Amino acid sequence: MDVRGPVPEVPRWENRVEIDPSVKDYCGIPTLRISGRKPPSDLKTAKFMAAKAAEWLRSVGALEVFQQLPGMGVSGGQHQAGTARKSKDHKLGGVDEDCRVFGVENLYVADGSVHVTNGGFNPSLTLQSLAYRTSAKILASSHIAKRV
Ligand SMILES: Cc1cc2nc3c(=O)[nH]c(=O)nc-3n(C[C@H](O)[C@H](O)[C@H](O)COP(=O)(O)OP(=O)(O)OC[C@H]3O[C@@H](n4cnc5c(N)ncnc54)[C@H](O)[C@@H]3O)c2cc1C
Repeated sequence: MDVRGPVPEVPRWENRVEIDPSVKDYCGIPTLRISGRKPPSDLKTAKFMAAKAAEWLRSVGALEVFQQLPGMGVSGGQHQAGTARKSKDHKLGGVDEDCRVFGVENLYVADGSVHVTNGGFNPSLTLQSLAYRTSAKILASSHIAKRV
């Protein structure tokens, strides 16, 4: 039996998505790589979750329990987000509260990159609802209104 507890990785300003200096895809285009570290609080959360899971397993009769904690590197899973995070302040994010790119009147972002955190669970429904909201903001924007 395997007990897992997904939690959000707390974002760190220093973490980056970069162009890999050496790895290229089959078309010869440089690939992306994720670099950075988890904050110490993530390990604290993981230890808490692992201890709880071990407690649950022992309470239902498990004779041997093994704990596996995550490393401190950022994970290469499937829920990365936040490369153009929403913010009130252009120094702290890529887009404003309406998902419009700071400093560009008619450019909006409608995907996972605007998430400030990704939560601990699957993000697609949040992405979709944000895309609807952003579409409405685009339609209501003065840029579109001027053209209609
Ligand atoms: C294996 C796997 C399993 C997952 N399972 C779940 C799940 O069960 N539930 C859940 O909620 N989430 C799941 N996710 C996460 C979810 O799929 C992603 O978080 C979500 O799709 C991200 O949406 P997005 O719009 O930000 O990016 P994407 O869906 O990646 O969309 C980006 C789009 O941009 C296009 N694109 C890229 N570069 C260019 C370019 N230069 N010009 C034009 N177009 C370009 C790409 O082709 C792509 O269509 C899973 C992800 C993976 C990889």
